[in-house]
Amino acid sequence: MHFSDLGLKAELLRAVADQGYDTPTPIQQQAIPAVMTGRDLMATAQTGTGKTAGFTLPILHRLFSGERLARVTKAPRVLVLTPTRELAIQVEESVRTYGKHLPVTSLAVFGGVGINPQIANLRRGVDILVATPGRLLDHVQQRTVDLSKVEIFVLDEADRMLDMGFIRDIRKIIALLPKQRQNLMFSATFSPDIRELAAGLLNNPASVDVAARNTAAETVTQRVIETDREKKKELLCHLFESRGWHQVLVFARTKHGADALARTLDKAGIKSAAIHGDKSQGARTRALSEFKDGKLVALVATDIAARGIDIDALPYVINYELPNVPEDYVHRIGRTGRAGMEGEAISLVCHDERGQLKDIERLIKRSLERVVIEGFEQSATAAPRPPQPPRGARKPQAQPRSQAPKTGKNSGRPQQHHNGNRHR
Ligand code: AMP
Repeated sequence: MHFSDLGLKAELLRAVADQGYDTPTPIQQQAIPAVMTGRDLMATAQTGTGKTAGFTLPILHRLFSGERLARVTKAPRVLVLTPTRELAIQVEESVRTYGKHLPVTSLAVFGGVGINPQIANLRRGVDILVATPGRLLDHVQQRTVDLSKVEIFVLDEADRMLDMGFIRDIRKIIALLPKQRQNLMFSATFSPDIRELAAGLLNNPASVDVAARNTAAETVTQRVIETDREKKKELLCHLFESRGWHQVLVFARTKHGADALARTLDKAGIKSAAIHGDKSQGARTRALSEFKDGKLVALVATDIAARGIDIDALPYVINYELPNVPEDYVHRIGRTGRAGMEGEAISLVCHDERGQLKDIERLIKRSLERVVIEGFEQSATAAPRPPQPPRGARKPQAQPRSQAPKTGKNSGRPQQHHNGNRHR
């Protein structure tokens, strides 16, 4: 199947060709025709499956088809809600990428940056608004956004939204939308909570389920290196040096751990930066772009900060520490092996983490290959265990809105360059 078989407008096909894509991914093959007909959609798909183009392309097609061509309102006609700023930025970039031959305006709004440029851009008029829930509600409160003209509503990474405590905000936002609209919902998992949210939001949806849930791409080789906690740093440096790795995403469990590890790698001559929820938006964006440009060899991330990071063909993912929540393992390794490329996911596992490893293997229904690296073998007895949070506990990085700092206090933070960029 080719993109040209999907009946998308010529301007969109040109933009897809500009990207060098000719074959739609499985989610695109299923979601694009469904969304083009105007139906609601429930899609179970992770980041890395091509889901963003899967909704962006048919939405742009609908916005610019037939009578819809004429712009009659300055208020957004499409609202995409995302759990994180990073994802908001990336979705809005996709709108630009695929909409580059169409007269579409788009804007991403998120917290942690000044609100005034966003207000100015909203006032000028925006077709497609991508937003995180907290900042969108700030705009609602200040009456700087009008949601009454929304024709298409997209809830992206709905599972993560619920994890981050956004459910009340989502319900508030939905209540402000016109009753007559098209709804698209994307989620990596299909938990009872997600089912309930979908039942309330979607009307006779088409359902798309690509890649069996909780399995990783076939093209990702997954290995476990058994070692001791105190050997991990040295082992990681050894791996970088002996294998000549150049672009590696490393996962750490805590913000503090991510910072410390990035510093260690840097000292060992492996250019690194950490991204996590305590970093300013400017620092995160800078780290991500330096990583993409190859100026950084390693990016050390916590689970929530890494969600939505979109990097083409990332070859390696390292779990410096295993996540407490086994589903996060699947999200982590979903950063590699994208679009059919080969990828390798390596987990450094010490004695204390054997329980987490077992949980992960149970979830993905396979046992992972064990590898021993000479000089870094696991010792026979476990080292004393440092204090840890209870297994299964997730320490949220993003606070639910009720606990979040008030908007405005953060406006002194570095501005993010995408913020407020309009595109015509
Ligand atoms: P997503 O799941 O939306 O985060 O997309 C994952 C990655 O796949 C992004 O880097 C896209 O640019 C890329 N991509 C999307 N569609 C295609 C396609 N049809 N062929 C190849 N790569 C694609």
